[in-house]
Amino acid sequence: MKKDIRRAVIAGNWKMNKTRPEAKALIEELKPLAANAGCEVVICVPFTNLETAVTLTEGTNVKVGAQNCHFAKSGAYTGEISADMLTEMGVEYVVLGHSERRQYFGETDETVNKRTKAALEAGLKPIVCVGELLWERECGITEEVIARQIKLDFFSVSAEDLKKCIIAYEPVWAIGTGKTATADQAEEVCAFIRATLAKLYGEETAEAVTIQYGGSMNAGNAAELLSKTNVDGGLIGGASLKAPDFATIINAATNG
Ligand code: PEP
Repeated sequence: MKKDIRRAVIAGNWKMNKTRPEAKALIEELKPLAANAGCEVVICVPFTNLETAVTLTEGTNVKVGAQNCHFAKSGAYTGEISADMLTEMGVEYVVLGHSERRQYFGETDETVNKRTKAALEAGLKPIVCVGELLWERECGITEEVIARQIKLDFFSVSAEDLKKCIIAYEPVWAIGTGKTATADQAEEVCAFIRATLAKLYGEETAEAVTIQYGGSMNAGNAAELLSKTNVDGGLIGGASLKAPDFATIINAATNG
């Protein structure tokens, strides 16, 4: 029961949405709504909007994240962006291992691990996504799947570095589907993630790590999800594209 020692973090994942003028309008609408947030607020925007987001949020409490980064420092990786390129711009966070990257772009636990280490080395705070498929849940292997992802995605990451990471529990069946895990289901897996971290890193480190829930979190269900002991925040897709809805979730985290 150490929720009070952890950073509550509400992060929006804009996915492949918003042109630059649209991004500008959404950020300007969000800024006053997030000004009194009692939690960390992050917007993870497409690469083309990073510069706009960093400039517009300067001096505010809204932080900026990217949605991926490559693991190499530089080189012949056409179309890719390095972690150093992000930190140099003023980007603070990066989403890694999102299920859409795993599903459509060949992301594996091995590459998530490499990206996580590269991001940490560059000074970024990784938001590492883990989660089971529907059939894995139905087969009763959710905990095995999650434990495997945690062990592989954080392989050889030190305890000190782990504390800089956020883990987002995102059941794949709940992402963009409108199907939310119940608050009890979210708590059960987030608590399991913390117990797995405790086995690997010890209790003190495990208690310090922020664990988010993600998967159709919205203005209506956020308060109940965020009230759970091991749910320290949220990674929000669809609802982060509407400033008032995202602000409601921020307020729920502030009170939760
Ligand atoms: C996400 O993209 O990480 C996500 C949770 O999406 P949504 O909230 O739309 O389900």
